[in-house]
Amino acid sequence: MQNVRVLISGASIAGPAVAYWLARRGFRPTVVERAPSVRRGGQAIDVRGVALCIVEEMGILRAMRAAGTDMRGMSFVDAAGNELMRTTTETLTGGPLDSPDVELLRDDLSEILFQATKSSVEYQFGDSITGLTETDEGVNVTFERGAPRTFDLVIGADGLHSNVRRLAFGEESRFIQHLGIYLSVFTVPNYLGLDRWQTFHRGAEEMIGVYSARNNTELRAMMGFGSPPLDVDYRDIDAQMKILEERFARAGWEAPKLLELMRKAPDFHLDSMAQIHMDRWSVGRTALVGDAAYSSSPMSGQGTSLAIVGAYVLAGELASAGGDYAEGYSRYEAEMRPFVAENQKLPAQAKEGPPPRDIVVRAANAINLRHYPA
Ligand SMILES: Cc1cc2nc3c(=O)[nH]c(=O)nc-3n(C[C@H](O)[C@H](O)[C@H](O)COP(=O)(O)OP(=O)(O)OC[C@H]3O[C@@H](n4cnc5c(N)ncnc54)[C@H](O)[C@@H]3O)c2cc1C
Repeated sequence: MQNVRVLISGASIAGPAVAYWLARRGFRPTVVERAPSVRRGGQAIDVRGVALCIVEEMGILRAMRAAGTDMRGMSFVDAAGNELMRTTTETLTGGPLDSPDVELLRDDLSEILFQATKSSVEYQFGDSITGLTETDEGVNVTFERGAPRTFDLVIGADGLHSNVRRLAFGEESRFIQHLGIYLSVFTVPNYLGLDRWQTFHRGAEEMIGVYSARNNTELRAMMGFGSPPLDVDYRDIDAQMKILEERFARAGWEAPKLLELMRKAPDFHLDSMAQIHMDRWSVGRTALVGDAAYSSSPMSGQGTSLAIVGAYVLAGELASAGGDYAEGYSRYEAEMRPFVAENQKLPAQAKEGPPPRDIVVRAANAINLRHYPA
């Protein structure tokens, strides 16, 4: 596989993970990421089930546990801040505290994956693919900034609003299913003095949550609200902040302070809770992995584990198929489809908050991982 050049779009979770496995199996991966460096921001995400075996084999499990959120518990408060309940056995974001799952900030995992791959993978930050033209010999790729290049294969790991998916498969509207909720996550100083603790306030249509992060030096704030699809450019941060200011104007509790601090947040992120459903995840020499192909939405709590498993299976099947990428792509799809389907069902099984634990654990283990040759 020494000469198989693979271009991967997106350097969050799925991108660096598939690059890791491709490099380990002798391919030559290049990752192009639109952001100028590994992107900051995002909620605490969970890695569980078979995904834990994969990160262990990658040699990053220890670093992930060291970066874990290490929560002690959570409470719910009313609009005036009076405590309604508290527990030290579970959290809303991560479930039971005594489980083997690893919960860490999305950007910390992204950084760990970047560190694990930067010596074996070429990274091209601050750039984006503008065109893909397939020939018998490969895919001619043009970029916003860099010079055109030719690759043997292209993999879209660029998330819910995947650019590669749009270029190779068509408009997002054909594949996206909105779940009727928007969620914003951003970092503010730990002005509440929370000690490894999560606090939530649930209103009629809105939810506000804060939890301490990075040794209590910061808070990650979450603001969620029910809404049909909004006509807002997901890159227009000011317009998105205005939506939150309107939605949370009368939400009570810490809303006014959080909205004020939001304006200075370095990593504001707002997106709809949405799933991606596609009939196929590859066309010609191009394939998709992670949220780009099969977002299960943050409501499933399984998006990151799906990305890790998908990356492992995709690289493994491509390597097993020798030079026959069509065969590799089709076996990747056959292996992953039932697993993805199980995990995409999770949001519908949640009433309020995360889906029941036993169902999540079953879904997180609903694949027999093959052992691929090194
Ligand atoms: C900033 C951010 C915050 C998030 N917050 C949460 C959260 O709070 N809770 C949650 O459950 N999930 C969150 N997610 C999604 C979560 O990371 C994924 O569900 C999961 O980890 C699978 O990851 P992925 O690598 O497939 O996609 P993503 O993590 O979405 O990564 C996609 C990557 O592609 C890059 N990209 C996008 N367009 C282009 C382009 N044109 N060219 C090159 N690169 C491009 C993005 O910058 C990003 O680095 C967030 C993602 C991001 C990027």
